[in-house]
Amino acid sequence: MSTPAHSARTLSLAPARRQFLRWLAIGAAMPLASACGGSEASAKSFPIAYSEAEWRRRLTPAQFAVLREEDTERPGSSPLNHEKRKGTFLCAGCTNELFASATKFDSGTGWPSFWKPLPGAVGSSTDYALGYPRTEVHCADCGGHLGHVFDDGPAPTGKRYCMNGVAMTFRPS
Ligand SMILES: [Zn+2]
Repeated sequence: MSTPAHSARTLSLAPARRQFLRWLAIGAAMPLASACGGSEASAKSFPIAYSEAEWRRRLTPAQFAVLREEDTERPGSSPLNHEKRKGTFLCAGCTNELFASATKFDSGTGWPSFWKPLPGAVGSSTDYALGYPRTEVHCADCGGHLGHVFDDGPAPTGKRYCMNGVAMTFRPS
């Protein structure tokens, strides 16, 4: 009994090895998109798209670092933390209307915080920049990184859109 079982296993090794080599070949031929980092947002295409050089020309270095490189501003550094007038918060990259002042609240985090974006204004993806999953929030029109959204916000949504003030501008109404 042991001899047929042994030979069957020996026979099956060859195809398995061929399969393995085929997988290696496929892996080598595929672009390393998934391995090279970068969020889903930066891989997608958006209605407003500029070259990196053009973004650098249009944005301040601080805006570029947040919007295009997913940097996070120092908490408490944005004047928009204290913006309490009626109006609209716009994307600093493309002037897309992101948040109404009525949805802004004081989260005490040092970052401008909102409980709801304007309809269709933002998109989201999961990032692992800190080693655990967070929901990254970006402008739906230009893909610029804005901040993150968390589930510890106030009623009625329970969401906390934690935004980088430098990624936005404010238009009083
Ligand atoms: Zn934008």
